[in-house]
Amino acid sequence: MNPANGTLYIVSAPSGAGKTSLVKALIDSMPQVRVSVSHTTRNIRPGEVDGVNYHFVVREQFQAMLEGGEFLEHAEVFGNLYGTSQRCLEQTLAEGYDLILEIDWQGAQQVRRLMPQARSIFILPPTQQALRQRLTNRGQDSDEVIDDRMREAVSEMSHYVEYDYLVINDDFAHALDDLKAIFRANQLRQDAQQQRHQQLLSELLA
Ligand code: 5GP
Repeated sequence: MNPANGTLYIVSAPSGAGKTSLVKALIDSMPQVRVSVSHTTRNIRPGEVDGVNYHFVVREQFQAMLEGGEFLEHAEVFGNLYGTSQRCLEQTLAEGYDLILEIDWQGAQQVRRLMPQARSIFILPPTQQALRQRLTNRGQDSDEVIDDRMREAVSEMSHYVEYDYLVINDDFAHALDDLKAIFRANQLRQDAQQQRHQQLLSELLA
């Protein structure tokens, strides 16, 4: 892979761990980092915008894209289909941006197989109780749906060992600093820095 290309990051978390808010704050403060907009068949939630949070599509459209080989990875989560557009990913990385895929553990396994250079981060809530509280505070789902989501969350969290980094979202600012540290350290890798500072390095060694 060309070192001038951006780095691919996988970010996973159980629903309610604060992943989306953390990723949004991260990209607002690091202009060289972008987030991939997935396609999904799930219904749009209040406050979501088509093309911003997701590309919302019907199942037939998703299936046609799948058969056309348009997805790098895809998975079914809570009965809905989700997928990452391969073309969009390649283009963003080739432009030199770091790209975040906010995907579940199933998608993460597929991406690791195809792109072993991807870094993966798992975001955890500080306690099970805090997670339940966050799911309840959303106020969009019934008790049964929240119980289901808690079970799904525990199942999702059991995959944490497959990830390179773990971030605990107890305090938002602290968790954001941890995320930024991961991205910053990677941007300072010798091969990436060499690419950026060719002139300085040749001057220093003259
Ligand atoms: P939600 O519907 O609550 O936004 O997301 C439900 C789950 O689907 C989350 O775990 C989220 O990370 C995952 N997800 C969102 N987009 C994708 C995708 O493109 N691929 C995969 N594999 N999972 C996704």
